[in-house]
Amino acid sequence: MERDAGGVTSPFVPEFVNSPFGDPGVYISLPRLGTAILVDLGNLDRFPAAKIHRVSHILVSHTHIDHFVGFDRVLRLLLGRDTLVKIYGPTGIIDNVLGKIRGYTWNLIDGYPLVFEVFEVEPTTVRGVRLSAATAFSPQPLEAHSFFGVLCEQPEFVIRTTHLDHRIPSLAFAVEEPRRVNIRKDELERYGFTAGPWLEALKEAIRTNAPPETTVTATFACSEQPSQRLSIAELRTKLVEEAPGQKLAYVVDAGFTAPNIERIVDLARNADVFFCESPFVDVDREQAKFRYHLTARQAGSLARWASVKELNTFHFSPRYSGRAQELVDEARATYSGKMDTDVAY
Ligand SMILES: [Zn+2]
Ligand SMILES: [Zn+2]
Repeated sequence: MERDAGGVTSPFVPEFVNSPFGDPGVYISLPRLGTAILVDLGNLDRFPAAKIHRVSHILVSHTHIDHFVGFDRVLRLLLGRDTLVKIYGPTGIIDNVLGKIRGYTWNLIDGYPLVFEVFEVEPTTVRGVRLSAATAFSPQPLEAHSFFGVLCEQPEFVIRTTHLDHRIPSLAFAVEEPRRVNIRKDELERYGFTAGPWLEALKEAIRTNAPPETTVTATFACSEQPSQRLSIAELRTKLVEEAPGQKLAYVVDAGFTAPNIERIVDLARNADVFFCESPFVDVDREQAKFRYHLTARQAGSLARWASVKELNTFHFSPRYSGRAQELVDEARATYSGKMDTDVAY
């Protein structure tokens, strides 16, 4: 894990929840916050309960059973916990969640503090409901708001989404760290400063675009030297190294159509890790097209066009059991330019 002089770790640590032939899903641990984002809710039976306990945000691409059957395990594991979990999904997600919840009887959970907020992402609006265990999950509408691509914006991460065509809407997601602001340890020592909470204040001021004349109180290693208020403009030049933040992109269940390609490439552009489905090999492209899915070659093409740094393919069709390497190789060959990219159908 990367650390800078302020002692800050990489913000996102992603992992697949299943093998590439299992139900799709990625768990993104957020070590700075001690929480996690879970993308898709397929079978989670083998995924550790302790990790599910930390989930604060759930992103559901669509509610085909291989992407939603795991809701019950999440519900069961979180039921007695004092937590608020935000769930985002396409049109219909509120009914889907309520359908699951209404499959059970809830007469003995009055004191339970668990709350879900479920948000339905339509092309231009997001509407939500609040479901509290304390009120037997009876839905309380939340105020709807306009949608311009961003689902959730926090100091630590931004979640974006776009609508893809899977013969139903399927959401693709990007989780991004805001611009990375690191303190140069060598320069910190050279100027005689000492590390401390003031560096966090400096970073926060830069991240939030505070005016350059804003000051923070710097402390010095030499005990004789009193702390001093210095402008962020000056400290930025002396001590700060800035870089784009970490970015993850997740794409599943979408056809290789021109509009989908444009949206995926836009969303995944320059991602550090691109998680992309590749259920079929290129020779079975007609099957892929018929099922509104991608081939490995198409996944490789998208990764190449989006200039991602790393491509991880998954959601392999069981018909290729024992042939996973073929799917991986085809995607890699296209991504690296050894095989021609595909054209939209
Ligand atoms: Zn699927
Ligand atoms: Zn699907």
